[in-house]
Amino acid sequence: MQPVSSVADDACADAYVRLRERLHGPERCIADELGISGYLAVATVATRARPAGRLAVSPDQAPQFLEAAAELGLYCCIGRARLVSVPDAIPETRHAALFVADDRPDAMSLVYFGVSADIAAGAEQVELYGDHRLLGQLFGYPDCCVEFFVNSETAGPDRLPATINSLGPFDRLMNPVSTYVYGVPNLLFHFPCSPGCRPSMMLSKQRSHFLSEIEPGVRAIENLGTGLALYGPEVGIGLATEYERQDTSTFRLHKIVSRSQTTHELFGTRAEATIRFDSPSVFEIDGRRFSRRDQFGALFI
Ligand SMILES: [Zn+2]
Repeated sequence: MQPVSSVADDACADAYVRLRERLHGPERCIADELGISGYLAVATVATRARPAGRLAVSPDQAPQFLEAAAELGLYCCIGRARLVSVPDAIPETRHAALFVADDRPDAMSLVYFGVSADIAAGAEQVELYGDHRLLGQLFGYPDCCVEFFVNSETAGPDRLPATINSLGPFDRLMNPVSTYVYGVPNLLFHFPCSPGCRPSMMLSKQRSHFLSEIEPGVRAIENLGTGLALYGPEVGIGLATEYERQDTSTFRLHKIVSRSQTTHELFGTRAEATIRFDSPSVFEIDGRRFSRRDQFGALFI
């Protein structure tokens, strides 16, 4: 008998290596330093798909980044505040952060980049003022997602569980656990208001197409993400890829792929598990109840 939880293969690792190899000059430099998501954040502004963006870069990466961004025709503004990661409720995620104004060595520089110098500097101002609606427009976030963000302040830094308003099923390309389970790059730079958000879905598709024009193997991202996603401090982050739906709210899980220690410890060596949902954030796994609002389960097909 195989244990129900197992580690996912790095599904697209070869495709990402090839993608990086196909990039040259400043684009290659950014992809090497900041990964595919970082490259995508810059490329979406360089191609005028959105007016501005922002990345956290380590102080020693900043000079190279500024040079590469300028070569791509972007204007940059280094933020006065810097960013320090603080531990999240789920160790694998990075949502919580502190803005600091001192010079502690572990702080990341915030670089705002835009299609003009005014827009880059303006984005920094707007963030300092905390005007999320205007910042969302500058960063190209859909209006519905900006409204969700503004209205979900009590959810804390990790808005993801608050976006899950039903068990689904949702489109697999919108599965937020794929990045943690398979190591695929984030295609979105915002919390979608729901995995069913159509404007966010369009952005994901456009960006997947953009990357696969450079390296066709990256198109495989669109086939990942199918399964019952589990996410939370007590369940870790996993994706049940083999399961049997017994009724509308009960699933028998046969295989869960996960890189999360919490998920592996929870499911241990058992060969199957049963999960029964009262709601996306309230469920029982083999009779043990999990009820907290910073977790969810949802189906992606
Ligand atoms: Zn939305």
